[in-house]
Amino acid sequence: MKLRRSPDGLWQSPLLLTQNWLAHSFGTAVAAPADGFLVLHQVHGTQIVDASEWQPHLSADALATDTPATRIAVKTADCVPILLADPARRVVAAVHAGWRGTAAGIASHSVAAMGKRYGCRPADLLAAFGPSIGPCCFEVDPDAGQHFRTIFPERDDLDRRTTIDLREANRRLLVQAGLNPANIAHDAPCTCCSGPEFHSWRRDRAPGKRMFAVNEIL
Ligand SMILES: [Zn+2]
Repeated sequence: MKLRRSPDGLWQSPLLLTQNWLAHSFGTAVAAPADGFLVLHQVHGTQIVDASEWQPHLSADALATDTPATRIAVKTADCVPILLADPARRVVAAVHAGWRGTAAGIASHSVAAMGKRYGCRPADLLAAFGPSIGPCCFEVDPDAGQHFRTIFPERDDLDRRTTIDLREANRRLLVQAGLNPANIAHDAPCTCCSGPEFHSWRRDRAPGKRMFAVNEIL
């Protein structure tokens, strides 16, 4: 299921658009969601926090909330933004999954945290991935590649320079965490080779150039 660009230039997932109780968008380099969302100081870790615990400069990589009208966001430029939604319990999350966070399992940690904190069942969760670097452009050295041995056990090329599909890695982690594969919209444009609509750290190395993915219970 492909993301689609809405008339205002933000990207949205048809999977999440089926849910009339939530609002979400993936911003770009040229279209930002409206102000007024919470965002973390992201550190490529695996910690998920509730929006009620949010403070400026709080270090974590995922936010969740069961409170309506609380807009939570992650910022990315190549890393995978993952928006999660539980239609049964009406909970949303926004997850920042760069290669380090992906390899450390932030996707699975987020599902577990949503279960513990809000009683979410993995089989109920919907997940949508935003624009992020694709396997077309994400070449890594063995020092990064070796962290993906567990996620890609079939690969024998991780000890040399190779490419990694971060969206596929996160998709696998979510399936292992109990999500229904049909409830994971993992197809998204590559930030690195799709032109200036998207910021790409690997392409531009421009500090502070980030795109925001926002999730909210209406
Ligand atoms: Zn690419």
